[in-house]
Amino acid sequence: MSDLLELTGAQAAERVGAGELKASELFDAYRERAAAEELNAFLWLAESAPDPPPDAPLGGVPLAVKDLFCVEGVPSMAGSRILEGYRPPYTATAVEKLVAAGAPVLGKTNMDEFAMGSSNENSSYGPVRNPWDRNRVPGGSSGGSAAAVAAGLAPWAIGTDTGGSIRQPASLCGIVGLKPTYGAVSRYGMIAFASSLDQAGPLTRDVTDAALLFRHMVGRDPCDSTSLDFPGDIPLPSAERLEGLRFGVPPELTGEGVEPGVRAVLDDTLKLVEELGGAIEEIALPHSPHGIAAYYVLAPAEASANLARYDGVRYGPRRGDGDLLSLYEETRAEGFGPEVKRRIMLGTYALSSGYYEAYYGQAQRVRTKIADDFRAAFERVDLVITPTSPTVAFELGERTADPLAMYLSDYCTVPMPLAGIPAISIPGGLSEGLPVGIQLAGPAFSEPKILDAAYALERAIGFDGSGARA
Ligand code: GLN
Repeated sequence: MSDLLELTGAQAAERVGAGELKASELFDAYRERAAAEELNAFLWLAESAPDPPPDAPLGGVPLAVKDLFCVEGVPSMAGSRILEGYRPPYTATAVEKLVAAGAPVLGKTNMDEFAMGSSNENSSYGPVRNPWDRNRVPGGSSGGSAAAVAAGLAPWAIGTDTGGSIRQPASLCGIVGLKPTYGAVSRYGMIAFASSLDQAGPLTRDVTDAALLFRHMVGRDPCDSTSLDFPGDIPLPSAERLEGLRFGVPPELTGEGVEPGVRAVLDDTLKLVEELGGAIEEIALPHSPHGIAAYYVLAPAEASANLARYDGVRYGPRRGDGDLLSLYEETRAEGFGPEVKRRIMLGTYALSSGYYEAYYGQAQRVRTKIADDFRAAFERVDLVITPTSPTVAFELGERTADPLAMYLSDYCTVPMPLAGIPAISIPGGLSEGLPVGIQLAGPAFSEPKILDAAYALERAIGFDGSGARA
């Protein structure tokens, strides 16, 4: 790979700003590399990019965008056949903001259909391959974005996280992924999965890039009533030490089910935390083991309502033999893949009268308990540290026949979106030659603190990601 493509997003933006590099040259280099890729990471590529506005903070450095972000006039299908050929008449706020800051869209990245999955194998457009080992999954659902950044097909990318879909693929591909506080980034123009959980965030080569993209994504948007202004600035991270920071280790998310190789990387990271002056203590998150059960009631319940709009009338292909019922039935039967259908059935059942209290009501109560656990923990510690994924990247096909095994991929990442709090995944090291992600979570709007701690750790870890860019 040429030196140009080795630059992080921030480094490239700086060179463009200094007049040492032309933004169009950078775009063309990535465009060419992405067009030749063999990972199936991209579903669509831009032909060209507008010149960045003068002094644009993101310098014209191109951005890979998960397919579920609406981009005006550009295929935006959320990885689903039911939206094949759909070109929205407007652009998602998060994308619009990044483009305005000088990061033009390079392409749309492959993903699990409607962001439902942990391996990218649920995409209607074929699985994505992990650049570290092409027989393995890149994680999901933002697998295309993660694989593209890890393989050097894009300098940086955005994705969305509902139960882990930024952090888990970042972990499996050896890059950085930040899931922001719920509401920090507008959801307007994101094709919805589960609206009370979905959040957009960056997938990047390093922590500085994550901070830089995040800084230009945040803010209240009148088009999303759940969005808010970020309280305070988002500085670029600079911490070298961790003095004064207390890290909580929850046995519930670091013990049973975590692969020995993953646990070993966590242990090495905990040693580094102490060497850098941070304090470690055990904390309890007693309800977090129920996170997966609660999530798989709440997320499908919300999805079943959000996906009711795909009826063959408004978007995408239309099937049926002329009468209304067959239009609905055949469009949905053909357009949705098996995992999406499973979620619609689960969600519709959980919301049906007579079962509503037993499932949805109960899951909401568990959600509150999980949030309360974090609140109590953050009275004692600043950040919670866990592995991001209990395992390294698994083989293609290994978990497709067993939905429960697939769902457990998000065991460590699901509690945070249920509580609405931010979390980052950074590469901690390798196990069996494959990347292991370390997760740091903090209270709502603690992103600057999380980014700083992640930055100090990143420097101490010195992870080498070149194994994905061969
Ligand atoms: N893997 C989880 C799921 O299948 C989370 C997906 C996500 O965060 N979008 O729902």
